[in-house]
Amino acid sequence: MRTVKEYVFPIVMLLVFETIAVTLWLTKDNIFYLFNFSFIGCSIALGIFLYIRKNKHARRLVQLLVGTYMLVYLGLICGENMQIEGFWYYLFTGVFEATTIHYAVAKIFGPLLFGRGWCGYACWTAMVLDFLPYKVPQQPRKKLGWIRYLTFAVSLIFVAALFLAHVGNIEKIMFWAFIIGNIVYYAAGIILALLFKDNRAFCKYICPVTVFLKPMSYYSLLRIKCDHEKCVSCGKCRRICPMNVDVTDNARSRTNGTECILSMECVKGCPKEALS
Ligand code: SF4
Ligand code: SF4
Ligand code: SF4
Repeated sequence: MRTVKEYVFPIVMLLVFETIAVTLWLTKDNIFYLFNFSFIGCSIALGIFLYIRKNKHARRLVQLLVGTYMLVYLGLICGENMQIEGFWYYLFTGVFEATTIHYAVAKIFGPLLFGRGWCGYACWTAMVLDFLPYKVPQQPRKKLGWIRYLTFAVSLIFVAALFLAHVGNIEKIMFWAFIIGNIVYYAAGIILALLFKDNRAFCKYICPVTVFLKPMSYYSLLRIKCDHEKCVSCGKCRRICPMNVDVTDNARSRTNGTECILSMECVKGCPKEALS
């Protein structure tokens, strides 16, 4: 029989998101924030609840709920560019609205609390890539992580150039940049996954958002830890990790430590229940 204590975590996550929802609703006088963060908070809390109930589709369900909501509703219907170029655009215009708030919560300050939970449970790019067949990487990790700095710089230069050249109607350009950017991301993500036999190759080498996510998640409060009393060094956790994290090492500087997307595959797969 499960105790109430086991359900504290989903309740805490729900409360965190509800606090953000109500605070932004009242301070910004915009009910959209109440709906937006309540939906995301409820989806995440439901996913954690189902995970505790040992439902094997829990993570994918949250990913599909939040990812589809952001891509289809916020991106395509509301015309909000939630990609990195949208973040630069709103930052340059000095508007602290949906995209800048989204980046602050999910990708810049949030990772101090929940690491790269965004990458495991909400990202609409990975939502599609995770349908591909290589959930466990079939090839060793490549030394291509430098590409992310290039894509990061290109996104910043692209938006800065629009402002410096005084191009008109940048908002419309941002909408099309969102559509085209997503098509390019999906195409690159699928090609790389098939080429490297690794669903998350795009995340490991190309994604510009990781320039924010990696350093912030280094300090994450939420981390998978290994109980060395129980661990028998079988190596299974490292073999099945989609992000090549050496989770048996408890140090923050562990190999690929800032790549952990909290997928919980290692926790579920450990034969000795040494990870939590
Ligand atoms: S690394 Fe980038 S593409 Fe991959 S899940 Fe995270 S934000 Fe999405
Ligand atoms: S799977 Fe479990 S027992 Fe095996 S190395 Fe990893 S933590 Fe240790
Ligand atoms: S398998 Fe474990 S270490 Fe690897 S990404 Fe998932 S939670 Fe993190």
